[in-house]
Amino acid sequence: MSLVSAKEMLETARKEGYAVGQFNINNLEWTKAILTVAQEKKSPVILGVSEGAGKYMTGYKTVVAMVKSMMESLNITVPVALHLDHGSFEGAKACIDAGFSSVMFDGSHYPFDENVDKTKEIVKIATQQGISVEAEVGSIGGEEDGVTGTGEVADPEECRKIASLGITMLAAGIGNIHGSYPDDWKGLDMGVLKEIGETTNNIPLVLHGGTGIPDDMVAEAISYGVSKINVNTEKQLVFAAAVRKYIEDGKDKVGKGFDPRKLLAPGVEAIQNVVREKMDLFGSTNKA
Ligand SMILES: [Zn+2]
Repeated sequence: MSLVSAKEMLETARKEGYAVGQFNINNLEWTKAILTVAQEKKSPVILGVSEGAGKYMTGYKTVVAMVKSMMESLNITVPVALHLDHGSFEGAKACIDAGFSSVMFDGSHYPFDENVDKTKEIVKIATQQGISVEAEVGSIGGEEDGVTGTGEVADPEECRKIASLGITMLAAGIGNIHGSYPDDWKGLDMGVLKEIGETTNNIPLVLHGGTGIPDDMVAEAISYGVSKINVNTEKQLVFAAAVRKYIEDGKDKVGKGFDPRKLLAPGVEAIQNVVREKMDLFGSTNKA
């Protein structure tokens, strides 16, 4: 199966009351880990690529070629969307040209009217090619590729306006944060989320900062229209911890334990466990 837009999988999820995970990739190991679990769990999946990760992997075209070839060689038959995460205006256009099947244009740091104009422009280019578009209103707390947001709560009226531009899915700040949550975090603003869900014409909503949100809060958010949940930091943390343990246990010094394929294997397994858990928690298991 080739790459698909995120539109159909998310609209189905919205209707049926579950969410599809966006799992960010950084290299071949991460991509392989996520694709194999998606196939095993019979779950649709969204592979997220930040602009930084795209650059790290030497460019968007490399990413597209790697993902497509890997899907073929691994016989992946579940729906897979390749999605730009927090794209700039130029980044979104570059990913559309490179063959991504979905892009996020994050104009949340622009004045609202400028966000509207730029989002419209991306929608126009993407829609012609059947590519899904995610827009953002109200910045999400924590760090996004070097930009630190304060974690605004989005204005439902602004959400309504952006949702009417022909976008596929909407990310709205509701007190969520990228990275780990501080001990004094107040939780998601469910009142505002409910209002946004009611004013945006059943458009799939996106929850960023999925690391460390309690399970019951995730379930409640899904009931108000969240159909895509981004998981990134949690995978980075477990990957690092597993590889660190391998080295601290001295396993790299036993036999050919220094072989990178062996050295990184515990990290890959740790990522796979997180992806499995999230697919079950979000309800996307067996939905492909
Ligand atoms: Zn995000």
